[in-house]
Amino acid sequence: MKLLIMGPPGVGKGTQAGRIRDYFDIAHLSTGDILRSEIEARSSIGTEAKTYMNAGRLVPDEVLLKIVQERITKPDCVKGYLLDGFPRTIPQAEGLEKIMTDLDHKLAAVISLTADENELVNRLVKRGQDSGRSDDTPEIIRNRQNIYWEQTAPLLDFYRSKGVLRDVDGLGKIAEITDRILNVLK
Ligand code: ADP
Repeated sequence: MKLLIMGPPGVGKGTQAGRIRDYFDIAHLSTGDILRSEIEARSSIGTEAKTYMNAGRLVPDEVLLKIVQERITKPDCVKGYLLDGFPRTIPQAEGLEKIMTDLDHKLAAVISLTADENELVNRLVKRGQDSGRSDDTPEIIRNRQNIYWEQTAPLLDFYRSKGVLRDVDGLGKIAEITDRILNVLK
């Protein structure tokens, strides 16, 4: 089972990714996590990535494609994988398509978690208050949501046109949302 997962900040993408990984016994590959461990390990990729990440910019597409290409051929990916945080650009999506075709890997689906913006903003404001970090104002949070949809729209169109996009409502109980995801994968 080869999957991608996308979702706006606060939608619970990490939680659902973990549950899908466990359900299918596949690898959960978060490119943010991979890059952070490369930095930790002071590898050459990490050193290159660090300057971009610290500046809040995207790491170059070639770097990401190289990482993903290597990662999805490792033994823990034999049963499949769930890519998270990647692709973030159209060149990454096109590069991934080529890599997967060359490896004879078939993308089963792209899970797009959606949620009402006002609900997400309320949720994130509350989370900030509970953890004593209320520096995130509703405006900042709303702005991040808008950036997500703006940046992700071309990718959603790309995958929609290929017939693999599955929109899933990300509001509700954790287990219910997982069931919705599993249902759209049938
Ligand atoms: P966030 O969800 O806060 O953006 P991530 O952990 O997904 O956090 O990513 C952290 C940083 O890693 C990004 O800001 C970016 O610099 C880099 N990164 C992660 N994935 C990608 C990607 N697919 N393309 C380019 N840069 C990436």
